[in-house]
Amino acid sequence: MKAVAEEYDAKIAKSFLGGRGFAAKILWDELRPGTDALSPENKLVFATGPLTGFALPSSGKLVVAAKSPLTGGYGDGNIGTFVAVQMRQAGYDAIIVDGKAEKPVVLLVQDKRIEFLDAGDLWGLNSFKVESMLRQVYGPNAGVLTIGQAGENLVKFANIVCQEGRAGGRPGMGAVMGSKNLKAVVIIGSGILPAAYPKELKELGAEAYREILTMPPYAFWKKQGTMMTIEWSQENSVLPTHNYREGVFGKADAIGGFTMEKMKVSQRGCPHCNMTCGNVIKDSYRRESELDYENVAMLGSNIGLGHLRRVAALNRAADEFGLDTISLGNVLGFAMEASEKGLIEEKVTWGKFKATNALIEDIAYRRGLGNMLAEGVRFTAEKIGGNSNRWAMHVKGLEVSAYDCHAAPAMALAFATSSIGAHHKDAWVISWEMKVGRRGYSEEKADKVVEFQRIRGGVFEALTVCRLPWIELGFELEWYTRFLRAATSVEMTWKDLDVVADRIYALIRCFWVREFGKSWSMEMDVPPARWFEEPITKGPMKGAKLDRAKYDVMLNNYYRKRGWDERGIPTKTTLKNLGLENVAKQLKRRVKLFT
Ligand code: SF4
Repeated sequence: MKAVAEEYDAKIAKSFLGGRGFAAKILWDELRPGTDALSPENKLVFATGPLTGFALPSSGKLVVAAKSPLTGGYGDGNIGTFVAVQMRQAGYDAIIVDGKAEKPVVLLVQDKRIEFLDAGDLWGLNSFKVESMLRQVYGPNAGVLTIGQAGENLVKFANIVCQEGRAGGRPGMGAVMGSKNLKAVVIIGSGILPAAYPKELKELGAEAYREILTMPPYAFWKKQGTMMTIEWSQENSVLPTHNYREGVFGKADAIGGFTMEKMKVSQRGCPHCNMTCGNVIKDSYRRESELDYENVAMLGSNIGLGHLRRVAALNRAADEFGLDTISLGNVLGFAMEASEKGLIEEKVTWGKFKATNALIEDIAYRRGLGNMLAEGVRFTAEKIGGNSNRWAMHVKGLEVSAYDCHAAPAMALAFATSSIGAHHKDAWVISWEMKVGRRGYSEEKADKVVEFQRIRGGVFEALTVCRLPWIELGFELEWYTRFLRAATSVEMTWKDLDVVADRIYALIRCFWVREFGKSWSMEMDVPPARWFEEPITKGPMKGAKLDRAKYDVMLNNYYRKRGWDERGIPTKTTLKNLGLENVAKQLKRRVKLFT
């Protein structure tokens, strides 16, 4: 095993910024099309952004990316982790892990010293235990990322975990790490990050932190963080319930933000963040579990479980094993529905805590039914048949995040066109949609999805900053151009940044098309059939469902605004305008497009 450090061209930094931008560029340039995602040839990229490591609000994140074993396309996720900060202090903007170690290893980076250490005694242990053991050796300030048993066993939605409950890499980034026999990454950096204008950056950072503290929504945010969304989703009938059959849950109050507040024992957060949104409660086994909206909705209402401490126990199990909670809640809900309909022999019942806890372990270890579920809902639906693909809740193979879209067409479009599959991160337009009218399919909705994808999925993911100060508190976008200038001396307006975001989005789209070739079509950008075919039967939106013809018109509007053709492929002109002429040439050559 060897490690090589390389400089990169400053032009790349300006064109792609960092984070997701770097990851997309690296995977496009260096990954052979058609590579098996779990083979040694896949590349696992950890990439920070130009603001990472500085004392700026919510900037302690990195992006982890690879070809996804779950979807077969581009996969990534962001993680708030001390690894991000330590990586920059050690002098690295991105780390690419290639090949496969012969035996389990820990990648240790201490400034310029890079080692692969034997991880034989860590293999088989859960992510919390591994992190605690590594911290005993490397100290409390070391950056540590680990996988649990799910990543080792190549569960297709295994993720990467740190700080006992922060996790990322939904589309199987933990499985890619496991496939390389990489149990953990430890980074310790002792350098001082050179800012272009240090005094200005220090003052800006201090001013920005102060501004966040005084913003009106801050006080309530500190009490509940994203957990307030349970009540909001219930009121708006978008809380995923019983595998997205419904948008309201009879026991929503029991798993909501106000219930959580009474149980809260502490709050955790990512480095350099004063919004600390990880709310910690004791689970039903008296262990600590860090909650947020997505994991409570998916392991609560979506599987019919209305008891917060039990939900917390399932969440803790998922974090220990290194399983993505959103996909996990989906496969569990899918299995419960399949069992109810007699499509699988095993009895899996809505809301049964102990049996569900045991099934989660079976998934992590790939035992029995768990082995099939470990492949995700798309695979499981193909396997069991019986029209179950109509209620397998995924887009492009990635399970849907925690918003029911029977009556939310713009959010459905956001899920369908997200760059990794059905994830909410890039364009969380649902709150806006509830205000402007939820039944319409206007052009304005396609515009809003593009706008949010530029800001969140493009710029924030490339800067690797958290979206929550902006979306939850109203922290102004102009702060980020000022941060960028003070940190790097690069002066870019938001108009310039939008072009970078479009470049990244187009490149990721081309990555998908390169992998899927001629089989790529607009059907890849269509949300799950359930939302079109089975109306909600309860609550204020009773009878609501999506309209396919109107959805197709909205999707075509979306393509037009992006400069993509009717199949959802960036046109030659669009790629040229974004400086991606070579990408167009490769697509033409490899998959005979643009002929
Ligand atoms: S708001 Fe939450 S997710 Fe965002 S940086 Fe802060 S702690 Fe991390």
